[in-house]
Amino acid sequence: MRDLQSRGIRDKRVLEAMRSVPRERFVEEALRAEAYNDAALPIGEKQTISQPSTVARMAELALPDGTGKVLEIGSGSGYGAAVLSCLFELVYSVERLPVLSRRALGTIRELGIHNVHFKIFDGSYGWSEFAPYRAILVTAAAPEIPKPLVEQLEEGGRLIVPLADPRNPEQQTLTRSVKRGDALETESLGACRFVPMVGRYGMPK
Ligand code: SAH
Repeated sequence: MRDLQSRGIRDKRVLEAMRSVPRERFVEEALRAEAYNDAALPIGEKQTISQPSTVARMAELALPDGTGKVLEIGSGSGYGAAVLSCLFELVYSVERLPVLSRRALGTIRELGIHNVHFKIFDGSYGWSEFAPYRAILVTAAAPEIPKPLVEQLEEGGRLIVPLADPRNPEQQTLTRSVKRGDALETESLGACRFVPMVGRYGMPK
């Protein structure tokens, strides 16, 4: 946790959430010893569990206050969703790969977390049924901000998206946007590294 503070994470709620979620439960047994390094790790299906400082940073950018609904695109291991479950009333998390989504659900239930809902779907369309959301976090890199996500955001809501250059997908910038009426105010927050988001509004094949 001292590590997270040295990486600029200040929000007390986020630090507390990071302390309370056992990351080793979201990786396979052979990797448990590495679970507390600040690094991404493989979770199968060519995907990764995000690095802890990235999960904390994105949660902090969502300005959590313990209320409201949050949408996560890219459930992966379920770790990010578990952290968000401490920071929002309800978490909706979409994953396109059934194997990962089912495993994430299993881990979350084993930990006794009940405010996270999973769906297997192309998350670049969002999850309109429960919109609007106070915050939407995309945990895979997209070529542009997917329109449906903007529509599903509350007024004043936060949208956190890693954007990648489609011609050079390793070149990525973390962005945060705030919805104000019909406009979206977007700020760039520096380089980042995520697996590609695929699907309708995802990276071109
Ligand atoms: N938040 C995760 C990190 C997952 S990595 C964690 O804490 O473990 C990104 C995930 O996004 C991968 O599992 C990948 O399968 C998923 N993904 C990529 N494109 C997607 C899409 N269009 N819809 C839903 N999930 C997608």
